Amino acid sequence: MNSEELWQAVLAQIQLNISPANFATWFKDTKIDNREKEKVVISVPNSFAKEWLENKYHKLIFKILHSLDEEIKEVKYEIGKNSLKVKEKNSNCFPPLIEQLEFPELKVDRETNLNPRYTFENFIVGPFNELAQAAAWAVSKNPGFVYNPLFVYGGVGLGKTHLLQAIGNEIAKNFPKKKIKYLPCEKFTSGIITSIRNHDVENFKSKYQAIDVLIIDDVQFLTGKEKTQEEFFHIFNSLYERNKQIVLSSDRPPKAIPALAERLRSRFEGGMMADISLPDFETRVAILKAKAQEKGISFSEEIYSYIAKEIQKNIRELEGALNQLVAFQKFKNQTPDLETAKNLLKKIITQPPKITNPKKIIQVTAEFYDLKERELKESSRKKEVVKPRQVAMYLLREVLKCSYPYIGQRFGGKDHTTVIHACEKIKKEIENDENLKEEINLIRERVMSD
Ligand code: ADP
Ligand code: MG
Repeated sequence: MNSEELWQAVLAQIQLNISPANFATWFKDTKIDNREKEKVVISVPNSFAKEWLENKYHKLIFKILHSLDEEIKEVKYEIGKNSLKVKEKNSNCFPPLIEQLEFPELKVDRETNLNPRYTFENFIVGPFNELAQAAAWAVSKNPGFVYNPLFVYGGVGLGKTHLLQAIGNEIAKNFPKKKIKYLPCEKFTSGIITSIRNHDVENFKSKYQAIDVLIIDDVQFLTGKEKTQEEFFHIFNSLYERNKQIVLSSDRPPKAIPALAERLRSRFEGGMMADISLPDFETRVAILKAKAQEKGISFSEEIYSYIAKEIQKNIRELEGALNQLVAFQKFKNQTPDLETAKNLLKKIITQPPKITNPKKIIQVTAEFYDLKERELKESSRKKEVVKPRQVAMYLLREVLKCSYPYIGQRFGGKDHTTVIHACEKIKKEIENDENLKEEINLIRERVMSD
């Protein structure tokens, strides 16, 4: 295995262990820069990535490298000058030796936010999703006039984003003049918040009013965001009245989204609602086969059956398991038998539920803000301590649902009203402060990792 192949093999496995967003953020533009017998130097694009890989992913990276090549004893990270080279690679000046792992985010159309990999052609239909698929197909043939809005709901990893994006891509193909916009709800929300802050709401709204097809993913995140809901309501009406197509998704039906304004709820319910339930065994096998075929590899029937039997509730995980085997096949150049497959998938298939506890939350928060746990727990009123303390309290409440008095106790016997104040404050600040939100997400992620 040369360095490039080695690194691709590592990336393939890392991809299974972390979220796609994190993967794209921290592993984009990385490569093995230098390989001596026992030492591997990984080149990263900037100091931020360096720090993250060193602090957060080093163990994982080392473990995988070592499992691929036992001689490797040391891994270092260096800021490289390779961002340009990667660009050249992407423009196909130098066809890489082996297929560069995909970073889907990079291929996304900047105007529409659509990712061309999501199409109807590669969307497998079964009893569990056929209604949603049929409605989506109808919408893309005749946007604005059949089902408006189309509201697709279903659990995580079951194809909502794929289907929504497929609608966008299909409309772009059929109606090249139409202005299409796909947005995760959170992006839409932060757009509104920024425009409010900049006194620019009218401009923001008029931009949206010029759209022919508005696709918003994961609208359950509108919960409790009153101002965003209000602006969204106006945009919705303006589009709807002019027969512009609106497509929405959520992990649950509108009536199960808490703190959603009644008028918005009834709008959401006013068109077509289609759910995606769990795929049956046959469809799971069909999906595995189709995905393997896409990659030009095939496995034995018993392997497909094994994966499909073990993973039932999430198509993303189904794909993840398959990718693991594909990586094995590619790098060992050998088709795994059932025993090998079972071994390779052991980790995914018997993954213990992620758990955490109050001690860990406090510890991780302190570490994140470079404070001592003691400082967090004592009653210092220094600004550098007060905010982290509030964040820790907020996380205890949000993640573990601890009672306010209990939280107070953990922080040197503070009154429960102090805790309530802290939680409310952070909750409010997150709405307007993207940085804080990101910080909390990062802490939350660390808290939930081993
Ligand atoms: P959700 O948005 O519901 O969480 P996604 O649309 O992101 O789920 O789907 C997760 C993964 O599974 C994606 O890679 C997607 O391409 C794939 N997938 C989901 N449903 C299907 C399907 N019916 N056919 C083929 N691939 C699917
Ligand atoms: Mg999704």
